[in-house]
Amino acid sequence: MDNKIIVTYGIDARKMTKEVLESAKLADMIPKDARIGIKPNLVVAKPASTGATTSPVMVEALIEYLQEHGFKNILILEGSWVGDSTKRAFRVCGYEDVSRKYGVPLFDTKSDTYTVKSCSGINMEISDKALEMDFLINMPVLKGHCQTMVTGALKNLKGCLSDSEKRHFHTLGLHKPIACLSKILPQHFILVDGLCGDLDFEEGGNPVQMDRIFCGTDPVLIDSYIASSMGYAPTDIDYIKLAANLGVGSLDVDHAEIVVLNKDTTTARPTSSRKVQNLARYTAPKDACSACYANLIQALARLDDKRLLDKFRNSPVLIGQGYKDQKCGGIGVGNCTKGADHSIGGCPPATPAILSFLEQHAADMGRKR
Ligand code: SF4
Repeated sequence: MDNKIIVTYGIDARKMTKEVLESAKLADMIPKDARIGIKPNLVVAKPASTGATTSPVMVEALIEYLQEHGFKNILILEGSWVGDSTKRAFRVCGYEDVSRKYGVPLFDTKSDTYTVKSCSGINMEISDKALEMDFLINMPVLKGHCQTMVTGALKNLKGCLSDSEKRHFHTLGLHKPIACLSKILPQHFILVDGLCGDLDFEEGGNPVQMDRIFCGTDPVLIDSYIASSMGYAPTDIDYIKLAANLGVGSLDVDHAEIVVLNKDTTTARPTSSRKVQNLARYTAPKDACSACYANLIQALARLDDKRLLDKFRNSPVLIGQGYKDQKCGGIGVGNCTKGADHSIGGCPPATPAILSFLEQHAADMGRKR
C-alpha cells in the first residue's frame, strides 16, 4: 500500500483505529514471530488532550488488534525530549496502565545502549533496541513545530536517539539529520493520531480538534499529507524534500490514493487554546463538522503567517450545516455554504483548497480598495 493513505474521521479512537488497521490489512504485512516495536510520540509528559502526545486509546486498539492476530512479541519504546523524563511521560500519558492491561513492556530509549550509524556524512547514535525491532510501527501526532513547521512520521523517530544525539540534531539544523535518520532506521507502518494536535508547537498548548486517524507505509507520503492538512506544500518542508531525495518515499501527495472510510459527522467543539480562539474570531460557524472546521482553522493559521487574516475581520468566513440551503451572502467554506456570495465546495474541503480560495479572495478585496 505504498501509495495509499487510509483515513477515517470521528471521535471514537478505538473503533477508528481498528477500522483503518483492518482496511490496511496490517497483520498480513508483519512476519510471523516478528519483534514489533510501537513508537508513540511522548515528547513531553503531557496528556494527549494538550495536542502534544499520542492517544493511549489508539495504542490500546493497536495492541488489541495485534494480539487478536496472534502477535505476542510487542514493545512500546520512546525517549522523550532532552528536558523531560520518559518514565514520567509513560505515567502521565497513561502508558503505564496500557502496559499493565495488555502485558506489553515499556522501554525508555534514554537508558539504552547505542550504535553509531552513518548517512550522507552524518553520524548518529541510534538506540540498539529500536534497531533490533523487526517491524516498527510509528505513531506520530499530526501537529505543528516551531522550527520545522510540521512534525510527523519522519521527525518522530528522533525519540530513538540518545539525548546527546538529539542535541546534536539541533546544531545541524534538524532537517538533514531527520531525513538521514529515516534512511537508516526503517519504519514499516505509520498510524497517525490526528485526533487533537497542536497548531504550532510539538510540546502542545494550542490543541486543534482534527478528529481523524490515518495510516500508510510511506513516511514521506504520510508527512506530505500532514503538511498539506496544515496548509503547507510538502516542498515547503525541507526534511520531507530531503527524505524524498534519499529515496525514503514519495512526496507526491496529489497522486496518492486517499481512501476515506468514514466522513466526519461530529460537530466542532469549543477549544481552550487562546490562539485557536483568536483564529476563530474570523469565522462564523453554525453547526460546523469538526474536520471541516479544523481544516478552516489550519488555513486561517497560514493566512495569519502571510499577514492576510485582517482582510476577513469584517467578513468572517461562514461554515457549517446551519447554512445549508440558505441564501446567506458573504464568503463560505464547504458544500453547506453554497448559498454564500462566494464559496468553495467540498465536504469537507481540504486545507490547501480553502487556503488558496481565501488567498484569492483576499487579493480580490485588495484590488477593490
Ligand atoms: S461541508 Fe457541511 S456537511 Fe460537509 S463537512 Fe463541512 S460542515 Fe460538514
